[in-house]
Parts: sequence; C-alpha cells; structure tokens
Amino acid sequence: MRRTNWLVIFSLATAGVFPDALQAQDYPSKPITIVVPFTAGGPTDVMARIVGEHMGKQLGQQIVIDNTTGAAGSIGVGKVARAAADGYTISIGHVGTHVANGILYKNLNYDILTDLEPIALLPRNPLLVVTTNQVPAATLWGVVNYLNDTGSRIFGGTAGVGSGSHLGALAFFAATKARYQLVPYRGTGPAVQDLISGQIQIMVDQSANSLPHVRAGKIRAYAVTAAKRSPAAPEIPTAAEAGFPMEVAIWHGLWAPKGTPRQSSPG
Ligand code: ASP
Repeated sequence: MRRTNWLVIFSLATAGVFPDALQAQDYPSKPITIVVPFTAGGPTDVMARIVGEHMGKQLGQQIVIDNTTGAAGSIGVGKVARAAADGYTISIGHVGTHVANGILYKNLNYDILTDLEPIALLPRNPLLVVTTNQVPAATLWGVVNYLNDTGSRIFGGTAGVGSGSHLGALAFFAATKARYQLVPYRGTGPAVQDLISGQIQIMVDQSANSLPHVRAGKIRAYAVTAAKRSPAAPEIPTAAEAGFPMEVAIWHGLWAPKGTPRQSSPG
C-alpha cells in the first residue's frame, strides 16, 4: 500500500481517539514514547511512525519511537506494561503480541487483560505469500510443488513464534500441507531484506512490508490471504483463487499501561 493510502487510513483511525483517551488540561507536557516491539523499517514500525506523526500534530508534542525488540514483540510490550501509567509511554502491537503471545508463551512478562489498557484499534493488514526471485514458480501451486520437493532446504522468515508473520506461515502450512523451515527475526523489516538477497526463500508477510518490493521486482507475490483482492494490488489473486484458501489479517492497536487516566475534560 502506498504511503498516501496509509496516511488516509491512519488519519481516520486516530481521529477522535486521543482527545478521549489521553487528553488532560496539561497533557502532554513532555514527549510521548511509542514502544514498537519490532525492528525499525518493518510494518509495525512504519505504522507507529505514521500514527506518531498524526499524534504529534494533534497533541503538539514530540513523539519518540522506541524499538524494543525480541521474543515476538513480548519484550517491548512487557516494558510498556511495567511503565508509569501517565500517558507518556504507550505501545503499538497486534494480534500476535496481544493475543497469540498470551496463548503461546507460558512465562509472558505481561497480562494483556490486567496490565494494559486499549487506546485505539488500527488498520488490518492482510498477508502476501512472497518468495525470492530464485524460486522457480509462477503460481502458488508451483510454490507448493517446489516446497514438496525441496521444503527441508527452504527457509522462511518470521518475526518470531506468535508474530503476525508466524501466524501467516502456520496458515500457509495448514492450507497447503507443504512445509519449510522457519527462521525467527526481531522484525520482518530485516527478514524481507534477506528474502530479497536470497538468504531465505519464502515469507507470508504483511502486504505493507512486502508489496513495495514486489512492485520493484525484487521479490514475487503469489497470493493475498484475504477473501477479496486488495485494491492496492488487484493483480495478485486471493489464496482461494490461487487454489489454497486461507484468510489471515493482522489487526493492530495502541495500548497504555493499566491505570492510565482516560480523560480529564468534561464529557
Ligand atoms: N509485525 C510483524 C510480524 O508480526 C513484524 C514487524 O512489524 O516487524 O510479523
């Protein structure tokens, strides 16, 4: 999706959120930190920077992006769960950090239900099945056949167990019955760079992260994991059209530490 499209979506998503959730007479009197639990340059980071730009303008304060990465985003989200509940430290996260991690990790360092307060729901992003240009396949069927022949030697990038890209890989395994080896990264920004260079061969990656590289001819896309084709890339078939139905969309959100005051203005 192009940056201008993202800007429109984020303006809509953030409109009216901050006055209700975080605004007080003297708030904010200092910079606000958004903790991004994945690496810079990845889809969560890009979303945080666009949201931060809007927040900064609306609130008249500097927004600082803090990339605290690791353990499928749980280190950064845990940091926010333990931060002061004063509206100056918030986190961006998604269905992985705020749902899947709670199910998958026994000793998670936060409890989504008791440690964090939701502020806003942000856009959903479908996934694309993408490969290096070296994979000799023109269709998703071709990719699946290739994996069935060579899967043990094929590596796929994810942002860690429980991340959006990992959930995408699991959906791919379930739909196609094909397998490849998973390589965890601290975010899909660096993973997609390794896909471009051919260090890894496949990803089921957020379209916002991989589509620009597909457009530039650096990687190939075979299907979008949505019921309908994306208006941003109408030439890419849905997974069902490509022969392997799977629907996965990664929704995002903003959270504050539990106990953060909702508002002080009469309302
Ligand atoms: N959100 C991505 C994922 O879960 C990672 C990232 O933003 O870098 O796969």
